Amino acid sequence: MSDKILNKDQAASFLAELGRERDLFAPAVSQGKVVWAPLEPGQEPLWRFSNTALSPKEFFFPQTECLMRFKNRQDGEEGMIMHPEPELARERALVNMRPCDAKAFGVLDLIFCQDQMTDDPYWRDKREKSLIVALACNDPCPTCFCTSMNCGPHAEAGADVLLVDLGERLLAKGVSDKGREAIAALPEADEADLAAAEGAKQKAEAAITTQVAMDNIGGREVMELYEAKHWDRVHESCLNCGTCTFFCPTCHCFDIQDETQGEQGRRVRNWDYCMSWLFTQHGSGHNPRGAKKDRVRQRFMHKFSYIPLKRGGEIGCVGCGRCVQQCPVNIDVREVVRDMNA
Ligand code: SF4
Ligand code: SF4
Repeated sequence: MSDKILNKDQAASFLAELGRERDLFAPAVSQGKVVWAPLEPGQEPLWRFSNTALSPKEFFFPQTECLMRFKNRQDGEEGMIMHPEPELARERALVNMRPCDAKAFGVLDLIFCQDQMTDDPYWRDKREKSLIVALACNDPCPTCFCTSMNCGPHAEAGADVLLVDLGERLLAKGVSDKGREAIAALPEADEADLAAAEGAKQKAEAAITTQVAMDNIGGREVMELYEAKHWDRVHESCLNCGTCTFFCPTCHCFDIQDETQGEQGRRVRNWDYCMSWLFTQHGSGHNPRGAKKDRVRQRFMHKFSYIPLKRGGEIGCVGCGRCVQQCPVNIDVREVVRDMNA
């Protein structure tokens, strides 16, 4: 039995135990927004919130990440010696992550660590040293469509533990071995708790009224999708600002640059975005995605056609709705998918 019960008034001591060997982080309110922040000892996490403004992908894929340091000098004993960045020193627990964001890490695992050819040690180190304690959504937002994207408000994928808010109590489901170990000392849930959690799940799923079908996309030829007429319209209002990609928990384009100062240098990986004209510009000056339509199409084709084709049917979107909320010109990914599926 891996389903346990945690009374909210005992959550602080449970978290203190988790925090004995880990740094704790959780959503908190800052300047009117819900953001990820360190959870201090004894501090109670938020139990009622929609979701964080920015996704938690930065814990594993920072906006700017130093990959290694080097000396920009070719003579002497230390010439051009490269020093890899140290691994994460302490384990950490990310508490009260929404299921869509936890699921997004599973999608990004396929990108960064699917096999030995694509094994990114920077991503893997942080993933292996993190415990994901997800908190099921009982009140999804109108922009949520996770149930259409292999996910859901009570989905467990990507989490180590899934908490379900039952009022004064939390059902704690152990999803992974690491998660089951973390909640092993808690008392067992009873049948009434399980029934209450199931009721909350059904209610939350029913509250997500936006359904976005994808059943035709897989059956269409890639080139047919690529050349579809609707791309002539979708791209028109896009500003190529990249806002959607920076907020998105599954977008993962990056650029790598060497920065030097005197003899010292460092290689950094920075977030980039496929909507940017520079992202695909070649050294020759040629740009295979020189037109805005090409770049807008790429974002959607990647998420809803290329990733499913190449990653065993997984989708490059978890339906969190952030891009719907944040796009300054109201481009709605749900409408784009409907066009792709038509
Ligand atoms: S594409 Fe939009 S809805 Fe889908 S995961 Fe990214 S931000 Fe969320
Ligand atoms: S946020 Fe909207 S306008 Fe900006 S790049 Fe994304 S789709 Fe285009």
